[in-house]
Order: sequence, then structure tokens, then C-alpha cells
Amino acid sequence: MATITQIQRVPYIDLGLQHQAHKAEYLAEIEKVLDSGWFILGENVSKFEQDFADLCGAKYAIGLNSGTDALFLAMLAFGIGPGDEVITAPNSYLASASSVALIGATPVFADVRDDYNIDPEAIRKAITPNTKAIIPVHLTGRPAAMKEILAIAQEHNLKVIEDCAQAVCATLDGQGVGSFGDVGCFSLHPLKNLNALGDGGVLTTNSEEIYHRILKARNHGLRNRNECEFWSYNSRLDAMQAAVLNVKMKYIKKVTERRREIAALYQSRLADVVSVPKDQEGEYAVYHTFIVQTDRRNELQDYLKEHGVDTKIHYPIPIHLQEAASNLGYQVGSMPATESQVERILSLPVFPELTDAQVHYVCDVIHSFFQG
Ligand SMILES: *Cc1c(COP(=O)(O)O)cnc(C)c1O
Repeated sequence: MATITQIQRVPYIDLGLQHQAHKAEYLAEIEKVLDSGWFILGENVSKFEQDFADLCGAKYAIGLNSGTDALFLAMLAFGIGPGDEVITAPNSYLASASSVALIGATPVFADVRDDYNIDPEAIRKAITPNTKAIIPVHLTGRPAAMKEILAIAQEHNLKVIEDCAQAVCATLDGQGVGSFGDVGCFSLHPLKNLNALGDGGVLTTNSEEIYHRILKARNHGLRNRNECEFWSYNSRLDAMQAAVLNVKMKYIKKVTERRREIAALYQSRLADVVSVPKDQEGEYAVYHTFIVQTDRRNELQDYLKEHGVDTKIHYPIPIHLQEAASNLGYQVGSMPATESQVERILSLPVFPELTDAQVHYVCDVIHSFFQG
């Protein structure tokens, strides 16, 4: 029986606390960067890129300004633009679709399955003669159905741009996300599983040709110091960010394991009162978010708040129903699975610094809500 005798405070995430752990190491690396006087790209960035490629099992990785830039520059490199359509998930963070609109192409949505990832059958139905690419999102840190998606892409000659922003270290049948498609796009935003002290992103690829194209694309389309091959802009990773990330790279597998431990604890304690995510055979999910579902979502969120527990909704408004998407022709009812999930989903705290006692407390509060 769960009775709550004392209210505890459980934040959704605590980035200040997270950076206590290896603070001296970060500061030492930052000091080295200051002393070196080298602030953009350079050795720290190259080391990070090499190690990141190895982490994902991809041949190449390129440090960029953000995950959104990785998506945008991938489409620039593929020559995607006005008149082209790109299929993605409506329940993602909006950058999966805004990047398509920003390149001048049209985002087309395919609804999702119970695991929040894009449904390959819905992709098939969304394909038109104008379709150029698919952006599957490994949402919540769970790998999308890459085998089916790659087969569809091959059949229709489409590029596959993996949105890996929430899924660093996730694998499917032992293979890292970001190494399946033509490119993988990662975010290093402070709220992501591998995070910089500001904005950052990475693009991974196995193609030498794409690699060289993105290297130029992140640096004004310059072939060398003076010759510009194509118009592009500036999306380079800072040396200081890379220096800090190189420290974090040493611990990323360990902290990912901790996320999975917390997820397993939630799964074992909550499956009888809410629906919890399920791990399928072959999946190594990294739980960027831990999303439960209940018909009483709003009440439960309020109850948790009253008992000191912060939760979030990822995301309260599906992309196809955003004002910015009003010209795309979608309405309420267009994406039934996404729209029904949106009323029921609740993200519980799952950051690696949570203690087991805190996780048990969150579970106790949830049980006490359903008993009451
Ligand atoms: C965070 C995120 C992005 C954007 O990454 P930024 O680095 O913030 O630009 C794209 N797609 C998904 C699924 C994300 O979660």
C-alpha cells in the first residue's frame, strides 16, 4: 500500500546537479581551450567527431550548431527544395518538420504506432511522385522500424534522414541509430541525453560524398579558404563545447544504462495502473523520455505536482495542428493515433541523477492517486 507521508520534491530534470559530477574535469578542459586561443572547430571537435562516429557505428560524424541544422543541411546536401515532399512524424518535436518547411519543401505527415514511432504502413500511403525523403524519428529514444523504412525507401528511391535527436546510443539489433539511413541527425541541446553547455548538433553518415558535402555546408559552402562552391551558412561546433563533450563521452554509456535502470523500475512498478512503454526484441531504447498513458492524465499530472513531482507532456500540440502548419491541409482527425495519444501521454522524470528512492516516491504517488 502506498501512503504518502512526506512530500518530496522531484524535478523533471536538474542540469545543475548533473554537472556537479565531473565539474573539475569540465573546468580543466575549458581552461585548456581558453589558453589555446582556438575556439571554433579544431582538435577538440575532430576528436569528438571521431569518437561520436565510433559510438554510433557510422563512418563519419560532423559537429554542427544544432540538431535542426543537421536536418536542414542534410536536405540541402540532397538538393531537396521547393516542390519536393518529405515524410515525417506528426508527434515529434517540431524541428523534424520545420526543417523541411525551411528548406522550401513540404512536410507530409505519417501517423505513428503505439510505440510513438512512425508507422511504415502510413509512410507507404503518404508517398507521392514528389516524395524525396523520409525523416523517421527515434522518438523517446526508441529506435524506429528501420528495417521496414529502409525497404520502403529503397523501393521508392527515397533518402532516409534519421532524426536521432532523442536517441544517442540507441540500437536496433545491435546497430546504432544514425548508421541506418543516408544520414543521422543528432542534437546536443542541454536537455538531450548527450548535451553540450549550449546548442550543438552532429550529423552522421557512411557516405564519403555526403561527408565532404556537409563539411562544406557547415562552413559557408567553402571548398577552401577562398573558393565558395555553393551558398550555405555557418553551422560549426565550438571547440569549448567539444572539449566538454569529450569528457561526457567517457560516461555516456554508463548514464544511458542508468536511464534504462530507472525505466525498468518504473515499468515494474507502474504497469498495473498506467500503460508503460514496452521494450521489443532487438531494441536498446535510451529513454530520453519515459512516457506513460492514462485516461486521467490531467488529474494525475496535477496530483503529482501537488506532491512535488514535475512532469511534462511531449508534446501537447501535434505538429500538423500547429498554426505554422495551417497551410498544409491537415485538421483535427487527420492523425488519429497521434491525436488520441496526445490526450493521454505524460512524461515522468527519468534523468540519470534520480535516486531509486525518488523513483519509488514517484511510483508511490501514482499508486496513491489511483487508490484514492
Ligand atoms: C531536440 C530535437 C530536435 C532539434 O534539435 P536542436 O538541437 O534543438 O535544434 C529535432 N528533433 C527532435 C526529435 C528533437 O527532440
